[in-house]
Amino acid sequence: MDDKAHAALRGGPMHGRDGADSPVSVTRHGPVAVVRIDHAPVNALSKPVRQGLLAAVRTLDADPAVAAIVISGGAGRFIAGADLREMALPPDAPVLPEVVAAIDGCSKPVVAALDGAALGGGCEIALACDMRLGSPRALVGLTETRLGLIPGAGGTQRLARLAGIAKAIELVCGGQVLKADDALALGLLDGVVEGDVLAEAIARAPGTAKRRLSTRPVPAGECAEEEAAAAEALKGAKGVPAIAAAIRVIRAARDGDFAAGLARERAAFLALRESPEAKALRHLFLAAREAVKVPGLEGARARPISSVAVIGAGTMGAGIAAALLDAGYPVTLVERDAEAAATGRARIADLYARQVTSGRIGAAQKDERLARLTPACDFAALAEADLVVEAAFEDMAVKGDIFRRLDQVARPGAVLATNTSYLDLDAIAAFTSRPHDVVGLHFFAPANVMKLLEVVKAARTAPDVLATALSLAKRMGKQPVVAGNCDGFIGNRIYAVYRRHAEYLVEDGASPEAVDAALEAYGFAMGIFAVSDMSGLDIAFAMRQRRAATRDPNERYVAIADHLVASGRLGRKTGGGWYDYDGAGHRAGDPAVARVIAAARAARGIVPRSFTPEEIRRRLLAVMANEGAKALAEGIALRASDIDLAFVNGYGFPRLKGGPMFAADAAGLPAVLAEVEAAHAAGGTGSEPAALLVRLAREGGSFAAWQTA
Ligand code: NAD
Repeated sequence: MDDKAHAALRGGPMHGRDGADSPVSVTRHGPVAVVRIDHAPVNALSKPVRQGLLAAVRTLDADPAVAAIVISGGAGRFIAGADLREMALPPDAPVLPEVVAAIDGCSKPVVAALDGAALGGGCEIALACDMRLGSPRALVGLTETRLGLIPGAGGTQRLARLAGIAKAIELVCGGQVLKADDALALGLLDGVVEGDVLAEAIARAPGTAKRRLSTRPVPAGECAEEEAAAAEALKGAKGVPAIAAAIRVIRAARDGDFAAGLARERAAFLALRESPEAKALRHLFLAAREAVKVPGLEGARARPISSVAVIGAGTMGAGIAAALLDAGYPVTLVERDAEAAATGRARIADLYARQVTSGRIGAAQKDERLARLTPACDFAALAEADLVVEAAFEDMAVKGDIFRRLDQVARPGAVLATNTSYLDLDAIAAFTSRPHDVVGLHFFAPANVMKLLEVVKAARTAPDVLATALSLAKRMGKQPVVAGNCDGFIGNRIYAVYRRHAEYLVEDGASPEAVDAALEAYGFAMGIFAVSDMSGLDIAFAMRQRRAATRDPNERYVAIADHLVASGRLGRKTGGGWYDYDGAGHRAGDPAVARVIAAARAARGIVPRSFTPEEIRRRLLAVMANEGAKALAEGIALRASDIDLAFVNGYGFPRLKGGPMFAADAAGLPAVLAEVEAAHAAGGTGSEPAALLVRLAREGGSFAAWQTA
């Protein structure tokens, strides 16, 4: 049944207590009542939806003219999950368990018709029904653990009864989303309907037997299988407390009656809901949705992109080309000469070969992707591209030469992007006669893996060019964060301050090992000195050289890394940098580095002091948030949550801590400000407290509240 037919049959909407139109309506089809949810965009289980569903089920249960009920989310939808914004508030009646209990207790057969996502709470509603029919586009899953939660309305207990304990652990802990056929194979769907799933549900509802999962026993399972599923889930838990809770609650489904299982599940859910980890994950989820809303883009339409060119096939260019091939684009890869172009192609072929070996893609996929790649060494090959991404050397003269030539050959309307990390985007745009077409697309290494794409807006970047960049990010599966033009944009600007202060700590007495250990204990994938060794100390060295002429003499400068570079210690690629590395890549402190550090301290007359891991963390987190506040006040970042997204997706900041600005709010801004004042004393010019931080700390504000205001 299409939407129009449904609208024609539509009965009156259920009225909420406040009298406003409910997003839930009921229509009659003979003895079958269809309860339809219509709450754009995804039918999230907001309070009016819960109210409407509860009222509808209760009313229809009591209506003798109704023989069976169908729950539908309309064309292309079912219920995609909870309303995350409500989760910041205390639970508000009717809560989802009440709605699910009403369905479970209904005396008439209830059928769920799924034509889209039935996730989280939506899946819990479907599991409470007697039958679940899906269209081929149905998606089913208890995805709560992705947000640091477990299902809280019977999902774990019903799934354990439906699929067995081991499978339930696997599905819930993995936060898996099943496609229709997979859901059918596991019994989460009772049928996949090729045609009109709602019409089929209406036809089958009266004859459906009541078969509530709540009355079923948990199927007997192999203990070893359950152990293995639990062990596997814990292995991938990455510190998310919801995983252990989910395992415990699912296994307990066997220990008592259904009601006891529900009570245990609900208690665990409510505790997790308030956990800092779940709050951080919710924050990041909402942040990702906010990040693509960019003021000034209203009405701007993305330019169509059907072919792309990349200039430079080094570390970044090859990765960017692969990411574009992965997203389905034909890619022309331009290098300086035929040999370099061939090397670039070989690099990408090698990357795909490794993915075939690891089973990530098939051999046919590799061939198909490589067939879309055209290596070239002549700028004429760029003439037809709709988008060009420049990833050549980080040198203004090189960028100037390239953008002037690009301006000559690129077709009118082509988007001209640069992957520059630090250079002035306005200056790059000025090399062309079309600065409005120029934008920064700052990918992170490895570009085909890292999720962050910093989209840098120059002074004259056209709105539709920015819209094109955002739509490209979506197609590539990247997380875009829009940044203004400044040295280092959002990410590298804040990172530079973070690195400087890590070096101050070392010069003042902490060892690089101690700094990295403190960061890794906090949850960073890698400490900052280990990261430097991986990227190569020469990169930061070049940046410091570039800045030397304009650096304020009152900014404290630590020369340890310069000495390491001078002695040939460029990081992993030379066998050592801040650390030494063995053949297996394990790092260890090196007495030679310790001597360089000791000499630097002595030259400054510094008597080394010790720092606790907590002091190290507090200092480094505070200076990140402080620089973030400066970027916000200058309009370089649009929102605090954008900064969080950038650090979590591009710099290894622990997801469970929500990002530097979220962490600062959690620590309390007065405490952060006090730490920044101490950091200022240690770092001098360039480390001043941000005016915004000072104001928010004084007024009892937070970055989150400032953002909303
Ligand atoms: P790279 O030295 O590995 O590669 C640069 C490539 O560009 C080389 O293969 C070189 O032959 C080619 N090239 C130079 N001039 C060219 C020209 N005129 N025409 C065609 N090809 C040319 O450098 P990279 O690390 O890939 O960095 C490239 C850009 O990406 C830089 O602007 C850098 O700041 C930026 N970036 C680097 C990283 C990183 O982690 N390496 C991360 C983000 C952004």
